[in-house]
Amino acid sequence: MRSLPDLIATGVAGRTVFLRADLNVPLDTAGQITDDGRIRAALPTIAALREAGAKVLLCSHLGRPKGYDETLSLAPVAARLGELIGADVSLATDVAGESARATAAALTDGSVAMLENVRFEAAETSKDAAVRDGLAAKLAALADRYVDDAFGAAHRAHASVVGVPALLPHAAGLLVEAELAVLERLTSSPKDPYVVVLGGSKVSDKLAVIEALLPRADRLLVGGGMAFTFLAALGHSVGSSLLEADRVDYCRELIATAGEKLVLPVDFVAASAFAADAEHAVVAADAIPDDRMGLDIGPKSAALFGTHLRSAATVFWNGPMGVFELAPYAEGTRSVAQDVAAATSGGAFTVVGGGDSAAAVRALGIPETGFSHISTGGGASLEFLEGKTLPGLAALEG
Ligand code: ADP
Ligand code: MG
Repeated sequence: MRSLPDLIATGVAGRTVFLRADLNVPLDTAGQITDDGRIRAALPTIAALREAGAKVLLCSHLGRPKGYDETLSLAPVAARLGELIGADVSLATDVAGESARATAAALTDGSVAMLENVRFEAAETSKDAAVRDGLAAKLAALADRYVDDAFGAAHRAHASVVGVPALLPHAAGLLVEAELAVLERLTSSPKDPYVVVLGGSKVSDKLAVIEALLPRADRLLVGGGMAFTFLAALGHSVGSSLLEADRVDYCRELIATAGEKLVLPVDFVAASAFAADAEHAVVAADAIPDDRMGLDIGPKSAALFGTHLRSAATVFWNGPMGVFELAPYAEGTRSVAQDVAAATSGGAFTVVGGGDSAAAVRALGIPETGFSHISTGGGASLEFLEGKTLPGLAALEG
């Protein structure tokens, strides 16, 4: 895989570099960016290209639009990026049409412009390779070089991730390189005790990673909405908590194979509704009332997880422990974040992966120095840890 410095050494001054980044930031209902971490993560590559005199043409997706959708325009992202780099970032009104061509043509050396949300073109994510290649050809025609810094999209065989690098001289951006170095360290030589913390909403999203990590990890701590399918497998009633009934048998088998490696919550904050102002109380894991839903792990669980985390040498954490977006259910995630940070200051190598998890640690005000690395890629980092080949990385080989 060619590195960015190697590509720059071939001379990029005056050339247009198509930079696929992952600027898929969370937006609130008013369309304001609630966490600009992914934009900031793209800055080193943008700066290196600008310094080398390249014309930087940025491409990203945002959310999952079905065709053009004004609420998922990259306009707030272009504005925020402009603030961060202290220069105007013009935004094309389309992805690969007249405006895109005009925007690319107007670039000057060291300047930055952005194409509109690449998923406004259905071809980007089409299952038909010929359709994707059609869009890739139009995108490649806008530029002379391709740099991929979209680690968070590396597990997608999309036109801008896989098709464009097939048509242009290409390289991995600095973020992709940094992410890979961290994940390789987690897979090849994790120091023991290696503690994996998984949470988030769905167990079905994380089954493959559980299977891949269980043999390597010393402890697997499970919180978040996915914990309830495990509780159901133990025969507990979970009230109206999240439950994936079709995964209960699978979780029962996992509990048996994992033995004491698997650590489940012993208590929960259970609420009468999915709302910040709902009545809520701490209940034991085997005593969730029928009319209540577990929205966070409870204090005893947080303390239990903490004892494992504080003595860990390696930590990988994906998925919040509860509905951290609502203040009454953020304490479990906060506690785990603080214990991971304590492990970090004790010398452990700690990685947080996952869009919502990264947003959670920042929203809870945990300093970024509390973690060895905060990954920008949720699905991508999970698939890498599962041992899968990521199409976006394969496209950069050769
Ligand atoms: P990541 O993006 O870090 O991989 P996920 O997307 O898997 O994480 O899950 C994040 C979501 O899980 C959050 O929006 C959070 O509100 C939700 N969640 C966590 N715990 C629960 C719970 N007990 N019930 C419902 N949703 C939950
Ligand atoms: Mg998520």
